[in-house]
Amino acid sequence: MNKPRFLKKGDVILVVAVAVALLLFWGVSRFLYPPAENGVAEITVNGKPHGTYRLDKEVSFTVQDENGGYNRVEIKNGEVRIADADCPDRLCVRQGAISHKGETIVCLPHGLIITVCDGANGDVDFITG
Ligand SMILES: [Zn+2]
Repeated sequence: MNKPRFLKKGDVILVVAVAVALLLFWGVSRFLYPPAENGVAEITVNGKPHGTYRLDKEVSFTVQDENGGYNRVEIKNGEVRIADADCPDRLCVRQGAISHKGETIVCLPHGLIITVCDGANGDVDFITG
């Protein structure tokens, strides 16, 4: 049996353990957030539907809230993210891009919620773009 020269037995176990952990994590996240089919981003502002946007089209637009605040939404490479916003915490911008079914981006100060959904479920009111 050829033992790897630069790896001690403990190192090998560690590497295997990390690999298994990553695989498990990946498997669980795939299970929790399966890729959306014909994914769309549903956007609501203060609980009211703002629009539904296909993730397979590149688009960016600005959502204004009632108090003059804005969130710039960007859809690119099948992912949606908030590219810019003038909310005080900017947590929505820091949440990064989402693309899996059930994932959300929330901007609390602006009452804006983006949810990734399947596009083929018939609940879609309209699709722009
Ligand atoms: Zn925000």
